[in-house]
Amino acid sequence: MLEINNFISGKKTPSETKNFVSLYKPTTGEEYARTPVSTPEEFKNIINLMKSAQKNWAETTLMKRSSILFKFKNLIEKNFDELAKIISYEHGKVFSDAKGSLQRGLEVVDFACGIPHLLKGSHSINVGTNVDSFDIRQPLGISAGITPFNFPAMVPMWMFPMSIACGNVFLLKPSEKVPQCSMKLAELFSEAGLPDNVFNIIHGDKSVVDLIIQSPDIASVSFVGSTPVAKYIYSESAKYNKKVQALGGAKNHMVIMEDANLEDAVNGLIGAAFGSAGERCMATSVALPVGKIQKPFMDLLKQKANSIIVGESFDKNSEMGPLITKEHKTKILTYIETGISEGALLELDGRKLSLKGFENGNFVGPTIFNNVTKDMTIYKEEIFGPVLSVVNVENYKQAIDLVNAHEFGNGTSVYTSSGNIARDFTNNVKIGMVGINIPIPVPMAFYSFGGWKNSIFGSNGMHGEEGINFYTRRKTITSKWSGTNIDPSLTMPTIK
Ligand code: NAD
Repeated sequence: MLEINNFISGKKTPSETKNFVSLYKPTTGEEYARTPVSTPEEFKNIINLMKSAQKNWAETTLMKRSSILFKFKNLIEKNFDELAKIISYEHGKVFSDAKGSLQRGLEVVDFACGIPHLLKGSHSINVGTNVDSFDIRQPLGISAGITPFNFPAMVPMWMFPMSIACGNVFLLKPSEKVPQCSMKLAELFSEAGLPDNVFNIIHGDKSVVDLIIQSPDIASVSFVGSTPVAKYIYSESAKYNKKVQALGGAKNHMVIMEDANLEDAVNGLIGAAFGSAGERCMATSVALPVGKIQKPFMDLLKQKANSIIVGESFDKNSEMGPLITKEHKTKILTYIETGISEGALLELDGRKLSLKGFENGNFVGPTIFNNVTKDMTIYKEEIFGPVLSVVNVENYKQAIDLVNAHEFGNGTSVYTSSGNIARDFTNNVKIGMVGINIPIPVPMAFYSFGGWKNSIFGSNGMHGEEGINFYTRRKTITSKWSGTNIDPSLTMPTIK
């Protein structure tokens, strides 16, 4: 049985814990590894090592940091298929999709390579007579990241390259369900020349998360995962005066207007709803066809969803793989039963799927509910599986009102050929990431990623400018080197 190690001082280090989480292959259900739940003593030891590495790293020149990041980028490119294989193996998503997600993570490393430019501050001279003023951005110290199961590489890569580029040391606690890919990334970063203890990995569950939150030595916490946990991380971290960014769950709507290119919209929707078996925070889980297109829309949607090839993650023909765990599959099946019992019309039933040779895998086929209403559980809650709800609406206003009333605000999109509708949607929709004729509007690394409402807690999104702001602290200096002497005065200084 493979036992997962922590990553400390530039190498894999076995945990001394007696407490493990078992891992089962999503495709077959076979047990293949166990993730340690690291102990408080191990945590303390890691933090002490990181404290002693932090000062040197913060003093490492920007060009040196940038050159290590460049080498890291090259090593990821060289090991691209191997990394993507680990993602497919542990998560279950098909290999082509695993490669796509790794590419999106790599783009953040690319962006972080530009750190000498990104950390340039501002400088004004003569803000007063002989007085100058400038801003610098300094690292926080030790930053920590806690990540979800659905993107074993991409989500950690939203965090650690940015934090480390800014001069911090970074402690990652990956999802206990997908612990291996980040280990390989840490080895490559070390091979690229990153000094020991600048990037460490500790495995575990809630107990390790609580050690992170309560540690007086950790300055910031980056979290991506479900909304209840995001809320917990945000409020608990605030008690310890930490900087915190906590990204939560989602229920992303796609509006399809009567003037949209229907073929294009349905093709986009198929990928957004069923790609990665719906286990994406930017998955479209609600479609809102407007007016008279509803029947042709449903016909085309069913026809295309029916032809999706569900199969083993490394089979070249597979377009959609299994869900992460048996428990998650049971949760999805329960949602489907709830949808039926609450009166939604089951147009396509993914429960019937059975794959020869993979009967114990966590497969559920594409599932479509029609005539869903806003009071139904399947509309209100995040399902996080291949289940699409279709809510038929009469007009654009009904559509945007629904999107805006939902508790989540991660992503949304509209398909239309009307500039007026596109512009109104852009301006008035209460959602953080918006697509116009784009199904999954994940911003590029040089923009920032993050939703609104209950999809985010804290004021900073990931990467881009907000990433730089998050992983640094601003300091503003006002200085005077020459000029007339000032007489003593007790009045508030003003600049003349
Ligand atoms: P999760 O919240 O169960 O777990 C995320 C992390 O939190 C894991 O590392 C886990 O060990 C830890 N954790 C779990 N329960 C905890 C608790 N009670 N206290 C403290 N820590 C705890 O999420 P998941 O199931 O791994 O991932 C799926 C969720 O992540 C979905 O809701 C999805 O929408 C969300 N997600 C959001 C984004 C985004 O950018 N908004 C991106 C990816 C995933």
